[in-house]
Amino acid sequence: MSQQLRNAPGLPTYFLSDEQQALADQASRFFFSEFHHLNAEMDDTDDLSPSVFPKLGEMGYLGLNVSPEYGGAGLDFTSACVITEELSRASAAIGLSHVAHDNLCVNNIYRNANEDLRRKYLPGLCDGSLIGALGLTEPGAGSDALGSMRTTARKDGDQYVLNGSKIYITNGPIADIVLVYAKTSPEKGAKGISAFIVETDTPGFKVAQKLNKMGFRGSPTGELVFEDCRVPAANMVGRLDGGVAVTMSGLDLERAIVCFNAVGIARRALEISIDYAKTRQQFGKPIANFQMVQSMLAEMYTEIEAARSLSLRTAAMCEGLEEGQGGRGEIHKLTAAAIFKAAAATSFVLDRAVQIHGGSGYMRDTEVNRLYRTGRVLEVGAGTQEVRKLIISGELLKN
Ligand SMILES: Cc1cc2nc3c(=O)[nH]c(=O)nc-3n(C[C@H](O)[C@H](O)[C@H](O)COP(=O)(O)OP(=O)(O)OC[C@H]3O[C@@H](n4cnc5c(N)ncnc54)[C@H](O)[C@@H]3O)c2cc1C
Repeated sequence: MSQQLRNAPGLPTYFLSDEQQALADQASRFFFSEFHHLNAEMDDTDDLSPSVFPKLGEMGYLGLNVSPEYGGAGLDFTSACVITEELSRASAAIGLSHVAHDNLCVNNIYRNANEDLRRKYLPGLCDGSLIGALGLTEPGAGSDALGSMRTTARKDGDQYVLNGSKIYITNGPIADIVLVYAKTSPEKGAKGISAFIVETDTPGFKVAQKLNKMGFRGSPTGELVFEDCRVPAANMVGRLDGGVAVTMSGLDLERAIVCFNAVGIARRALEISIDYAKTRQQFGKPIANFQMVQSMLAEMYTEIEAARSLSLRTAAMCEGLEEGQGGRGEIHKLTAAAIFKAAAATSFVLDRAVQIHGGSGYMRDTEVNRLYRTGRVLEVGAGTQEVRKLIISGELLKN
């Protein structure tokens, strides 16, 4: 289906070029052969094999948007998106851990950190010897992540002392590096936030708990606690009290790329539903012969194509987004709209996929059941559907 889209003279730039398509095809082959067979066990144990990140690094799938100068792949944003899509199609859980590492942590460091920090951390993050995470959400600060943030960073000589906690942090339990947001000037509210690179072997940092999730199992999620955790002042990313710009610009890119986690999952659900419809026999024929089943497949395909087209257009719009840009205006509205559509389409597709699988779709050990449990959170993470609509309507109603 979507693979046939090609860039051609006169076509809008959000169709894939031959190079981007070749990259996606190659990634798909690698991810299916290396990772797809791990999914059932990851779902049972909720553990990520320690070999995954080094393997991703070795094959050049880390630091996708980071310049080769720092060990990255130096790809454009759309290429990173289609690689994310193929990884999520092969393994949704590895896709989530990858995007948290590569986009939320690594890309934010690459875009906002100074040269010393880039040189210190990016090579390890790009070869898979270091795993990254991003800590924004707190127990009392979810949709209002910036306004209600309680974690503080108090300056003490050439260090900052962090106190507080972060929750639902993807890769939190296994991360070596967490990009953490904390209030450096609490009296300034959301305008008094800064970002820090915290090494997780720093005294005062601890993983309070690994959280037990309904889906995306194998991608570890945790609650992180900072108790008088001393971080070098040099580890501040961006400027003092400049965290809002880092967060908001990063969140736009996060929403844009997470669309492809969603589309990858939805595409996989459609693929296995087509296979099932062709093989499952009732009334003496494959259920694919029944028009009501055909109708579900047709609707699933259409939702995926609509979501994928908007996601690709959004990715194209994100190319070249300058540091500090985003968090407002057209790109803010479009990225929110794209993830709103991609998440809703994915929920729709997963619901129909379970329906086509009948009773077997309700059995925990089936692939479709795992995808169904997994995909639901795409309407919640990276800002909920409601917050996405607030962003879109807020931009529409601006003078
Ligand atoms: C699997 C998973 C992975 C995650 N990974 C990370 C990560 O790596 N890093 C990170 O920092 N965070 C992460 N998160 C956190 C995620 O971003 C938050 O869960 C999300 O922003 C919502 O916050 P909340 O869960 O506190 O919900 P709440 O903010 O408490 O929302 C509860 C409900 O109220 C609604 N609501 C809230 N405010 C409004 C409003 N103004 N108008 C209308 N409705 C409203 C919401 O839409 C939602 O339906 C992750 C979450 C999950 C589940």
